[in-house]
Amino acid sequence: MDILLNDSIISREDLTIDPEDRGYQFGDGIYEVVRIYERQLFEWEAHAKRLEYSAKELMISLPVRIEELYQNLLKLIKKSSVSVGYVYIQVTRGTAPRAHGFPENCKPNLIAYAREMARPLMKMKNGVRAVTADDIRWLRVDIKSLNLLGNVLAKQKAIEAKAEEAILIRNGIVTEGSSSNVFAIREGKCFTHPANHYILNGITRQLVLRLLNEIGVAVEESPITKEELFEMDEIFITSTIHEICPVIEIDGVKIGNGAPGVLTGKLQSLFDKLIFPASSIHYSS
Ligand code: PMP
Repeated sequence: MDILLNDSIISREDLTIDPEDRGYQFGDGIYEVVRIYERQLFEWEAHAKRLEYSAKELMISLPVRIEELYQNLLKLIKKSSVSVGYVYIQVTRGTAPRAHGFPENCKPNLIAYAREMARPLMKMKNGVRAVTADDIRWLRVDIKSLNLLGNVLAKQKAIEAKAEEAILIRNGIVTEGSSSNVFAIREGKCFTHPANHYILNGITRQLVLRLLNEIGVAVEESPITKEELFEMDEIFITSTIHEICPVIEIDGVKIGNGAPGVLTGKLQSLFDKLIFPASSIHYSS
């Protein structure tokens, strides 16, 4: 596997990771997962903006300019021969003797790699099951930080229940999935949690909101309760990896008629038209 380390591409065997990297000791870092379709980075500008937002909120300065990172990622994708997959980008505050406060003169560490991963076509077609789980995460999940234990435990609960996703509930309210955003449709109207510090403002979420607007579906960015989940006609989750995926059952209860919904299907076909061909971006130097 090829690894982008700051601004050079090296092989995995040559990568040394320091035990005092703050990513290890404090989860003191941020990340992005960007879809690769036809060797291109999908929705790169939105991901870059969110990476910069996460960095700003945690006072981490990105070690490379975004335009340079983009070019390096394209080189990485080419070198790794990934056609459809994803790129993982991680930036930690850097390496320093362990102490909670920000170390002085600490240089951030950036690593990225690309992996082949097919689109989840069967899940998107047939829908998936979900379970609900308590949202026990910290209160700044709008930052895409490396602190994912709340998400990891919730996903494990889903896996043990043979479900695809855990839908997180905080104070009786649906926030998002363990690795996705949640949309619900009732009587032609779409509901999703507002983009505040209780959810990650997903790039796929933002794209779906644009599509809903284009086709004239009324959207309410307001929270729904756990009970309301079960009264919905359609529910779907969105993420870079899942794309737009129908949820047909939650906690063993069928949603709507227990089959993927019509509006969900319409959004999926609009999404399909956007990803092929994925557009390439040309930054002016
Ligand atoms: N919420 C959480 C908690 C996530 O981990 C993800 C996946 N990154 C999302 C939402 C969806 O975000 P995106 O559409 O940018 O992948």
